[in-house]
Amino acid sequence: MTAYLNYINGSWQSGQFKKTTDVLNPSNNEVLGNIPYSTKEDVEIAVDVAKETQRTWRKLSGAERGQYLYKVAAIIESRLNEIAETMTKEMGKTLGEAKGETNRGVDILRYYAGEGMRSVGDVIPSTDRDALMFTTRVPLGVIGVITPWNFPVAIPIWKIAPALIYGNTVVFKPASETAITANKLVECFHDAGLPKGVLNLITGSGSIVGNNLVEHEDVAGVTFTGSNTVGKNIANIALNRGAKYQLEMGGKNPVIIAHDADIEKAVEGTISGAFRSTGQKCTATSRVIIHKSIKDKFVAKLLNKMEEIKIGSGLEESIWMGPCASENQLNSIMSYINIGKEEGAKLLKGGNRLTESPYDQGYFIEPTVFDEVKTHMTIAQEEIFGPVIALITYDSLEEAFQLANDVKFGLSASIYTENISAMLSFIDNMEAGLIRINAETAGVELQAPFGGMKQSSSHSREQGKAAIEFFTSIKTVFVKG
Ligand code: NAP
Ligand code: MG
Repeated sequence: MTAYLNYINGSWQSGQFKKTTDVLNPSNNEVLGNIPYSTKEDVEIAVDVAKETQRTWRKLSGAERGQYLYKVAAIIESRLNEIAETMTKEMGKTLGEAKGETNRGVDILRYYAGEGMRSVGDVIPSTDRDALMFTTRVPLGVIGVITPWNFPVAIPIWKIAPALIYGNTVVFKPASETAITANKLVECFHDAGLPKGVLNLITGSGSIVGNNLVEHEDVAGVTFTGSNTVGKNIANIALNRGAKYQLEMGGKNPVIIAHDADIEKAVEGTISGAFRSTGQKCTATSRVIIHKSIKDKFVAKLLNKMEEIKIGSGLEESIWMGPCASENQLNSIMSYINIGKEEGAKLLKGGNRLTESPYDQGYFIEPTVFDEVKTHMTIAQEEIFGPVIALITYDSLEEAFQLANDVKFGLSASIYTENISAMLSFIDNMEAGLIRINAETAGVELQAPFGGMKQSSSHSREQGKAAIEFFTSIKTVFVKG
């Protein structure tokens, strides 16, 4: 069994840790390797190195830093199949999705490599006619990157690439479930010749490694994607010590199916949005808010189409939906399904764990539909993060918008309609950072800002041009000759 190590100061290190954690394949429980269960001391060593290196890294031009990112992109591209396969084995998404995500990582790296050559400030007319006033941007320093298991390539890269291009150095703490994928990514940075200490990887428990990283006084900024509970804790610690923080958290994303929706497209978008990646996307569709007049027609087509979903190991080409990412994840989803039944929602389809061979060794669950869901019910309010949807009916569009907004989250919202006024009204009314019309709730483009409203986010945005806001500080410069 491969024992993976931390990566600090340009080399793979045994470090201070005494224990390791096994990484499991959720489709068959096979042990894929083990990772360091690192200590506070490991974090301190990594942060010291990152701090020291940042002094020289920030002196390079953006173009020079960009050259490294282009090299990393090429190396990841050349190892695409291997990295995607590791991802599928670690967290279960299908190989096709894993390849798509790895390709996305390559594109993100190239996008930010180019950012090294683009403008970072403005010239602002001074009221003093003899003065030149402008803004420039400087890196924050050491960035702590803490990431979840559901997009183990794209999310780390959309944080690490902008952090590095703008002159920061990084200590990266990946989700324990997908630490081997993280390990392989970091190998690509190493092989690209990235200077020692610019990117450091430490694995281990969130409450030890993650927490100590957030608490460390030399970590100038923490960028986090994950659950709300952990996010809030990170925000409190960072706020107290004056560090910058960025949080992307949960969602409870609605799709509204209007009376004039193209039903075929709406069914397709609902299935893809709700069940791809086994529903474990922060932008996954979890509430279907549907006009009473077309509900029966929609539901009949939905249930029919769901019959085509093939469940199994994501490594097999014919498989459309893999397992839940872990036993914990499966237990959490099953408990929400039970709560849904207890609270009086009608289970229309699915709702079971698959226990027969070949599913018995893994954490497979049926795609699940609840009908007659009321907005106050737990399954209509809390993020389930699994292949479960709640059907809620409405009479007027106004009511649909109100239902759609009636949650603490605000990540993504979608509508299927042919009516332009309904579309405009939807754009105006939705409390969500991503607005999608005649498209599923999930779907992100790397060149556009990504993030949520309400409790889905700390209200900053990631990706595209927006990333510069978090990873730099503005200096306003006034020069008088
Ligand atoms: P999680 O439990 O919050 O973990 C996320 C990361 O935080 C992991 O690396 C975890 O380490 C670490 N962590 C755990 N406790 C910590 C602590 N006390 N201090 C610092 N770090 C700590 O989330 P998850 O279960 O991996 O991912 C699922 C969640 O992510 C869902 O809620 C989903 O909506 C959200 N998500 C949001 C977005 C978005 O962009 N909005 C995208 C994807 C996912 P360990 O793995 O070692 O526990
Ligand atoms: Mg977790």
